[in-house]
Amino acid sequence: MILPDSILGVLGGGQLGRMFTMAARSMGYRVWVLDPDAESPAGAVADRHLRAGYGDEAALVEMGDHCAAVTTEFENVPAETLGFLESRLPVRPGSHAVAIARDRILEKTFIREQGLATAPFFPIRKEADLHDACQQLEMPALLKTAQLGYDGKGQLAAANLQEARLGFQQLQQAPCVIEERVELELELSVILARGTGGETVVYPAAENRHVNGILDTSCVPARVPAELAQRAEQMAGKLADAMQYCGVLAVEFFLTRGGDLLINEMAPRPHNSGHYTLDACVNSQFEQQVRTLCGLPPGSAALLSPVVMINILGDWWHDGAAPPWDRLFKYPQAKLHLYGKQQARSGRKMGHFNCLAAELQEAIDTAEQVREELTVRHASRSQI
Ligand code: AMP
Repeated sequence: MILPDSILGVLGGGQLGRMFTMAARSMGYRVWVLDPDAESPAGAVADRHLRAGYGDEAALVEMGDHCAAVTTEFENVPAETLGFLESRLPVRPGSHAVAIARDRILEKTFIREQGLATAPFFPIRKEADLHDACQQLEMPALLKTAQLGYDGKGQLAAANLQEARLGFQQLQQAPCVIEERVELELELSVILARGTGGETVVYPAAENRHVNGILDTSCVPARVPAELAQRAEQMAGKLADAMQYCGVLAVEFFLTRGGDLLINEMAPRPHNSGHYTLDACVNSQFEQQVRTLCGLPPGSAALLSPVVMINILGDWWHDGAAPPWDRLFKYPQAKLHLYGKQQARSGRKMGHFNCLAAELQEAIDTAEQVREELTVRHASRSQI
């Protein structure tokens, strides 16, 4: 077991790395962050910010020499980096799981191999693959790059083979999956933490709304039958077991209008849809990341209160002016989390807030009022 006062390393210094760092430091650990960005949100709260690229051997050697274990906040860390560190110290989750989760072809194939459902899909490695795929899928379909896509980036809709071909060109003929666009009833996600010995705790499923491909709102508990939420939780557990996973794993689901529960994708790390755990659970997903990284048993994932999380995007800023935070602080049930990012850009995640209440509907109503107050002048909004 790696105990407090040890140094933990994190690859990537965005908001997920920042919340990991804050959790680890409040538990008594020291944290080193590797991120080339001088304005890294995690670097600002770390014991040490190594400002170097993810392939910088000198920085990796230093991490290897001083850290007791290393984790990552994003799946696109070069495989060689993880391999290099893995030969020196514990890296959790391991490179095997990260390699699966970072590539939609490997990921969806792996999910299917476990007997779990996905939307019908085909891997596309060259243009000629599109012909058979489009014949066998019900169109319209979505073309998604296998790697480096997030928040709806690297995705195009195609109504027919011709459009799919054009889309593939637009995506620079990078390896892709093409998958059926399913009729969504709603989207769910399940976050779990799995320890070195396989002990697993699962958070209650979150019900998620996306706007323009970016997560907007999570409601917990999800407004679905208990049996369905349990099924999602079991499916997530099955995936983690199959990978002999160690760390925090997020699994995203589609519930189709026809009632099918499909896995969309997974992330080998804490997830935006798990930010509710910061205020509404016995342990946050970041505390679980610390625990599992350190070889400690996962802590309780019990939900203490219904909760709604709303993301705060750069779109909420006007001419560089931040939203009127004083209005949020008038709501005693609202908890603000800002990531310390200086530049607000459209679509950029600047922070989030959680609203807690005895009943979910009350949390939803409060959260929507807070959103309204912070975005008086504009901003797209979804109806929960
Ligand atoms: P992804 O990057 O795969 O998580 O996709 C971002 C969002 O696009 C999802 O959360 C869904 O709202 C939507 N989406 C992605 N794939 C599909 C699909 N096959 N059918 C319907 N909606 C989808």
